Amino acid sequence: MSPNGRYEPLRKRLARIEAAGLDRQLHPLQPTGPTTARDIHGQSLDVFSSNDYLGLAAHPDVVQAWKDGAHFGTGSARLIAGDRTSHHALEEALEERFGQPATLFSSGWHANLALLSTLLDSADTVASDALNHASLIDGIRLSGAHKQILPHGNLDLHSDTRLLVLEGIYSMDGDIPDFRKAAKAANAVQAWWMVDEAHSVGVIGPNGCGSASAQDQQPDFRVGTLGKALGSFGAFVLGPSELKELLISRGRSFIFTTGLPESCARAGLTGLRLANDERREQLWDRVQRLRIALQQVDIPAEGEHHIVPILLGAQTMHVAAQLRAAGILVPGIRPPTVPQGQERLRITLSAAHTADQIDRLVEELVRAMAATEQNSG
Ligand code: PMP
Repeated sequence: MSPNGRYEPLRKRLARIEAAGLDRQLHPLQPTGPTTARDIHGQSLDVFSSNDYLGLAAHPDVVQAWKDGAHFGTGSARLIAGDRTSHHALEEALEERFGQPATLFSSGWHANLALLSTLLDSADTVASDALNHASLIDGIRLSGAHKQILPHGNLDLHSDTRLLVLEGIYSMDGDIPDFRKAAKAANAVQAWWMVDEAHSVGVIGPNGCGSASAQDQQPDFRVGTLGKALGSFGAFVLGPSELKELLISRGRSFIFTTGLPESCARAGLTGLRLANDERREQLWDRVQRLRIALQQVDIPAEGEHHIVPILLGAQTMHVAAQLRAAGILVPGIRPPTVPQGQERLRITLSAAHTADQIDRLVEELVRAMAATEQNSG
């Protein structure tokens, strides 16, 4: 093949993605505060798209924790020479907070891959909500289990279901499952159930223990992330001690990857300590302010919590671009992340947003939606 033809198949695929208007680009940002940033052209932005829900990523104690102790990489997997006392200190603190043994992972993606592929094999049937995150879907694929995709919110399980997989708050829809019903449905067929609490840990429930615990329910297994509300990077799996032992001996994305840098573990531990009721109440105050302001201008928003989706369909990307031009960063979510026709703005709130930032967001949103309608009308 000629040098020019070598990557022709890749060019063809890219051309198809571009023709559908679904190509994606990176835009580097320089953070200038907990909820502000500057882009490479020097434009200042209010950021309404981060998962730093409690405003902890830029907290001085978390920033200091990144700098404390060993500043170097762990150099190998934890099972080789990359295990550190700071990993164990964080796992113990997580166990104390969540009431189940914790195992650290490099990311939520790694955690879901290891958990699902360790729990399940090709003889099993797993029931997975249709809106579950890509990392849950890939974990199930890796396990080889037979998958029953449940229409969102449906809990009609097959009698041979081994595991029911749900999220604590759906990251693109902002809704929370009824976990009492989920526990009942799983127990009725003697299945385990797990909740990916990536967007609820630190934010929802007593002590920020997540959406299932807010409904007084204890799933068999949970996943939490350090990189969202806890302001650091990495993730953890919670479950019985047998699971922890199995993950260490069998979890491929635990065994075959470099141990989390100590700085992440220290920053995660600090974030866990700082994720308190005061910050959760502050976030709740911001959520109320935005949701009431949207109601007043007749803009319908989904969910009830800190993830605020606004379904605009084909107009989504135009409105997002208008907001961006006004110095407000709200991402437009498109296929394949959401189905065609269900494109949406996804606003995420932080305890660190000011009332002024929220008021300006609503004003600019009204302006951008009016301009888009005029444009398309
Ligand atoms: N689970 C859910 C529900 C998520 O939304 C995400 C990431 N957005 C992950 C897992 C992966 O977490 P991480 O970013 O730590 O890989």
